[in-house]
Amino acid sequence: MRLASKVAIITGSGSGIGRASALLFAREGAQVVVVDIHKKDAAQTAEDVNQSGGSALALQADVSNQSGCVSIVAKTIEAYRRVDILFNNAGVSSFKPVVETDEAEIDHVLGTNVKSVFFLSQATIPYMKRQGGGSIINNSSITGIVGAPGMAAYATSKGAIITLTRTMALEHAEDGIRVNCICPASIDTPMLRRALGRMEDPDYARSQNIKRHPLGRLGTPEDIAYFALFLASDESSFVTGGTHVVDGGALIARGWRE
Ligand code: NAD
Repeated sequence: MRLASKVAIITGSGSGIGRASALLFAREGAQVVVVDIHKKDAAQTAEDVNQSGGSALALQADVSNQSGCVSIVAKTIEAYRRVDILFNNAGVSSFKPVVETDEAEIDHVLGTNVKSVFFLSQATIPYMKRQGGGSIINNSSITGIVGAPGMAAYATSKGAIITLTRTMALEHAEDGIRVNCICPASIDTPMLRRALGRMEDPDYARSQNIKRHPLGRLGTPEDIAYFALFLASDESSFVTGGTHVVDGGALIARGWRE
């Protein structure tokens, strides 16, 4: 098993990419801490892991504030005595251009998407250091590389994650802590379905979105989970500071339609 005897914290694992990652990491031998702001969803993922022979702990927490982050790590150490993998995956989107984005929205989006990475990493790193290493994986987005008109706060947050990833990778390379981020394109999760549901014709919007991906489909939560598994495992022991695009070719085909 690729993650035998490792302990993994996965935020936002009550749904979508985080949930798929929790199920996959557990199948590969990790003990998984399932973190979500929605208690029922965290409990459901943990129950599914435990029912299929894995080991998971459900934690309801808000990762957008420092005290929530500190308590997640404290409870992980209390339960499992170590932490080897931190997958900062929880995120929220936002659909406004710069001129319409107010302070409350900026605070909400940057708090959930960026402060969480900052403070969860800060709370986890001392334990990883003591253990001689670890792997931190941050879920960014291709919008963090190329921007996204109409999603100003979201794209800003995802760009910040890339820079934070590089900074932490340099600050902790000598501690054996690897830090990488993943930049997905459109992944078929509840977040994406909510976004498409805002459009006048969601089915048409979905088909247009598919066309932006040369591989001819949207990504699945498992497409990202498998990449995260590689970054979490010792197979990626020479990989740090990376901005890993997992996008069905969307980025190289920007502008491509047929
Ligand atoms: P999702 O909405 O299905 O899952 C996100 C989870 O995060 C939810 O369970 C939600 O309750 C949880 N969450 C939100 N705020 C939280 C908070 N403050 N504290 C704790 N948990 C919180 O979305 P998803 O598509 O699986 O997204 C996962 C990550 O992938 C996000 O960071 C997202 O930005 C990123 N991403 C998604 C796509 C996509 O197309 N779906 C593309 C690029 C990047």
